[in-house]
Amino acid sequence: MVIQPFEYLTPKTLPEALALLEEKKGAAHPLAGGTDLLVLMKLGKMEPKFLVSLRNISELNSIKSTTQLCTIGAGVTVSEIADSGLCAHNPAMADLVQQMATLQIRNRATIGGNLCTAAACADFPPVLLVNDATIHLVSKEGFRDVELKHFFTGPRQTIKKTNELLVSISFRKSNIGTAYMKFGMRKAGNIPIVGVACSMDIEQGRIRDLKVAVTAASPTPMLIAEAAQTALSQKPNDATWEAIAKVVPDCLAPISDLRGSVEYRLHLAQVATRRALQKAYARYTGAFDA
Ligand SMILES: Cc1cc2nc3c(=O)[nH]c(=O)nc-3n(C[C@H](O)[C@H](O)[C@H](O)COP(=O)(O)OP(=O)(O)OC[C@H]3O[C@@H](n4cnc5c(N)ncnc54)[C@H](O)[C@@H]3O)c2cc1C
Repeated sequence: MVIQPFEYLTPKTLPEALALLEEKKGAAHPLAGGTDLLVLMKLGKMEPKFLVSLRNISELNSIKSTTQLCTIGAGVTVSEIADSGLCAHNPAMADLVQQMATLQIRNRATIGGNLCTAAACADFPPVLLVNDATIHLVSKEGFRDVELKHFFTGPRQTIKKTNELLVSISFRKSNIGTAYMKFGMRKAGNIPIVGVACSMDIEQGRIRDLKVAVTAASPTPMLIAEAAQTALSQKPNDATWEAIAKVVPDCLAPISDLRGSVEYRLHLAQVATRRALQKAYARYTGAFDA
């Protein structure tokens, strides 16, 4: 299909971009890397009259960190995250950036675009969810912070208003006991059939806190509260990982599509959870034995 005509707007500052979104109401869409939006426009699934380029807006392009938190600008690309040194402290993020899409896509695709496009199979949400992420939105009315777990409302739907921009995402900077396990149909350009991220904290030989989040197996990526409950105060061992993995499928609501059936996705979710937990624990113990 041919992309319908649109006007390309290039604000130089955040207030200018927000003013444009306000003025054009829902007719204007922010454009980051374009790896989702332009594909949807080509397929005729979206026909924005105006594209507001975010390319020149410096507030969206930095990575900052304190001792506890890392804050990534919405316009930072997957490749920039991979090169940032952040992944050394957060192995789930390293798993993600190595496996997402292809190098060409990673060089353009942004973390903010991945969250705002809100695909049910997106790779960033599960990893950010197990790292307690908060997102920072801004409109002409001001800033608001939202826990990522409250952001997604359905496939390609979020609580973000049409006059708002995602500025940045904050999450735990150092989280060694983490992993992201993704099953796809091939090695490159690999949209997940199911993806599972997990994180764990252990105190005196018992699990103090454990999180599991799943993508591509429900209308939105989601944190599995039942996994955390099953894990609490248990010993970190294979029997516990299996028990946690078993509760996950019952919390999911996958669809059948060209990548996998409902039954296959539920099976993979259980397998991926067990493997992700084993991997995260090996990293955790490796880190603490060292
Ligand atoms: C070949 C190919 C392979 C892919 N593989 C994967 C994969 O393995 N895993 C995966 O998760 N995704 C994959 N994708 C999807 C896509 O690359 C990612 O979702 C990417 O992160 C989107 O970022 P972007 O900067 O290109 O967003 P854009 O396409 O520019 O924007 C996406 C949406 O977000 C909105 N938006 C962007 N930035 C902001 C902001 N700051 N504030 C408010 N709204 C904003 C836009 O208006 C648009 O609605 C793939 C895509 C292609 C084409």
